[in-house]
Amino acid sequence: MTHHVPTPLLFDFATGALPEGPALAVTTHLSYCGECHAALLRLEEVGGALLQTLEPAAVDSDLLSHTLARLDESDMDASVAEPEGETRGLLPPVLRPYLATTLNGARWRFAARHVREARLPLANTAHRASLLRVAAGRPVPQHTHRGVEYTVVLSGGFTDRGQAYRMGDFCVADPSVEHRPVAMADAECLCLAVLDAPVLPTGRIGRLISPFLR
Ligand SMILES: [Zn+2]
Repeated sequence: MTHHVPTPLLFDFATGALPEGPALAVTTHLSYCGECHAALLRLEEVGGALLQTLEPAAVDSDLLSHTLARLDESDMDASVAEPEGETRGLLPPVLRPYLATTLNGARWRFAARHVREARLPLANTAHRASLLRVAAGRPVPQHTHRGVEYTVVLSGGFTDRGQAYRMGDFCVADPSVEHRPVAMADAECLCLAVLDAPVLPTGRIGRLISPFLR
């Protein structure tokens, strides 16, 4: 694991301040990453110490325990049938309740050249969460961001601005970032992507296509 959840974001997660979309991205990374899980527990200790210095009425002392319970979300909804086959191996349990079918049975839409998208239903529509499949060795069209984009690699990997992202790695991009991630050559790249605003295609080809970005 090379790329982790930035500490301020993990702190917001620990205090319950993150909306569903980014929280899902963080939880997905946590399901791969013991290092961030340990950091979250340290934040809990800091938060617990802070709680003791605050007015008792100002905070909900159960907040952090609730937050940690979210790590066990995979066990939360036993009524959701576990998908079969390929999905089981590629999706961490926390994502499975969002996909009521197998990975191949999902509604994959053309998103851009070499890119297919399956939306994940969020209760909070302030964010858009999707699974993206990018063909091996192929790029996502060059784009920048109107908001923040969180990406977690579920299988395969991609390179972006000189960095390699592999299974479990967490990538954050904001309006300061213009990029063209490229799937690694040896396998299709499957990612979770969470956006709070459509991205803005900037390449020549990107301008012609990419509905996923709206
Ligand atoms: Zn991590």
